[in-house]
Amino acid sequence: MDCIFCRIVSGEIPGDVLLRNEHVCAFRDVNPVAPAHVLIVPNEHLTSIESLAADDSELAGQLLLAVKEVARLEGISESGYRVVANTGADGHQEVQHLHIHVLGGAPMRHRLG
Ligand code: 5GP
Ligand code: ZN
Repeated sequence: MDCIFCRIVSGEIPGDVLLRNEHVCAFRDVNPVAPAHVLIVPNEHLTSIESLAADDSELAGQLLLAVKEVARLEGISESGYRVVANTGADGHQEVQHLHIHVLGGAPMRHRLG
């Protein structure tokens, strides 16, 4: 399977990696849309949130805890940030490896809703 995020996780291709542990990896988005734009992915290939099973609760928690750690590393814990996980066709998910966007460093231009 040719998955760009699996190749970044494995180190096969370079990524601007901020955080790596046994569960997840976080690296800067190659095409940032905010001053801080980091992607958090599970090390294991899962297509999307829809691929999470009931016994993936530890991984799900680790992904969320990594959000907080990435915010700390990016210095945006206090100023705030947005967390997005585009999922499936209507969510405009382009890379088919579960990822969470952490966006911050400036006020978001759009409110949701
Ligand atoms: P989504 O699937 O949620 O629409 O977004 C995929 C994101 O992955 C995009 O923001 C895009 O810029 C980013 N991306 C695509 N290919 C690469 C890559 O090779 N390296 C990195 N760091 N980011 C990528
Ligand atoms: Zn993958």
